[in-house]
Amino acid sequence: MAQPKPTYEIATIEGDGIGPEVCRASVSVLERACGTGLLAFQDLPGGADHYVRTGDVLPDETYQACRRADAILHGAAGMPGVTYPDGTEVGNDLHLRLRFRLDLYANVRPIRLYQGDFSPLKSREAGSIDYVIIRENTEGLYASRGGGVVLRGELATDTLVITRRGTERIARFAFDLARKRSGAPRDGRKRVTVCDKANILRSYAFFRSVCDEVHADYPDIEIDYAYVDAITVHMVKRPDFYDVIVAENMFGDIISDLGAATVGGLGIAPSAEIGDDFGLFQGAHGSAPDIAGTDTASPLATILSGAFMLRWIGERHEDPRMLEGAARVERAVETTLAQRKFIPRDLGGTASCTEVTRAVCDNLK
Ligand code: ATP
Repeated sequence: MAQPKPTYEIATIEGDGIGPEVCRASVSVLERACGTGLLAFQDLPGGADHYVRTGDVLPDETYQACRRADAILHGAAGMPGVTYPDGTEVGNDLHLRLRFRLDLYANVRPIRLYQGDFSPLKSREAGSIDYVIIRENTEGLYASRGGGVVLRGELATDTLVITRRGTERIARFAFDLARKRSGAPRDGRKRVTVCDKANILRSYAFFRSVCDEVHADYPDIEIDYAYVDAITVHMVKRPDFYDVIVAENMFGDIISDLGAATVGGLGIAPSAEIGDDFGLFQGAHGSAPDIAGTDTASPLATILSGAFMLRWIGERHEDPRMLEGAARVERAVETTLAQRKFIPRDLGGTASCTEVTRAVCDNLK
């Protein structure tokens, strides 16, 4: 466990599209929540626009600064039409490179319903959806990115990779998290649901069996299984059953967008990519080029990701100032939404990004 520091360095990559506006919103809330001097943000270049100008999506100076920092805060990266010759998007490459080089193996996606009517699901009360998706972030089907084969214009393959080490560490991460939480809203049971397709592919059956082995060390946590197709139904029909869900990379990617939709959309869904030594925090959404520059984006996902970052640093350094800062930001978001005066557009309100940010800042008091 590291010692508390007088100041924590935050490497900040605003990126493209709505990235700069939501990132600045988060920085202003975090600075206010923590007071002067505790956080030092370093603004760093990177993203699709930077690639267009320089040919580099992640400059080495940005990467090195990310390695030196206590955490990384990111807006979003990606611009329509900015692709590599193989057709894949340049923007995604920014955090993919950071993900692999910093070994950010756990993608943590909290799914929480703040106000019942934000959910498209019928008769859902605030707090009745409250679970976390743990997406394995470094292997699975996406491990093949850049390594797939297109043969003679006739067939294409990408390979799904599951390793014992990768599965053990993500399963352990999920069970450790379940231990710290207070269980599923429905029954208060601490539960890890393993999401896979073990009935069809050997690789997923192996993923499940390794999760089972890890579970032997956690007799206090219930283990549950769901095939990925079935879980899309359960996440809609009985979302209160879930506490922690652990999934292979691509499945986790897909179900976390569905989870976000059940609590109001991508604009309120935070995300963290965490490894043993580094952590990167950004909203679950992309650069949303359709609304960039219009001051209509919701900053809440990035603000909540920032709170997550404070808590992560606070736990690593046993620093109560950071833990208190995280709690203040989360309470301020909750209060802002409960007041119903400044609700972002994607949640049915009319408030701009600037207005929502100001309301959250005001509620920090
Ligand atoms: P990526 O491929 O990078 O994940 P994407 O194209 O799948 O990105 P987003 O950029 O997240 O998706 O946008 C999907 C939709 O959600 C868009 O219509 C966008 O306007 C909306 N959206 C995303 N983020 C926000 C936000 N913070 N506030 C409001 N709407 C948002």
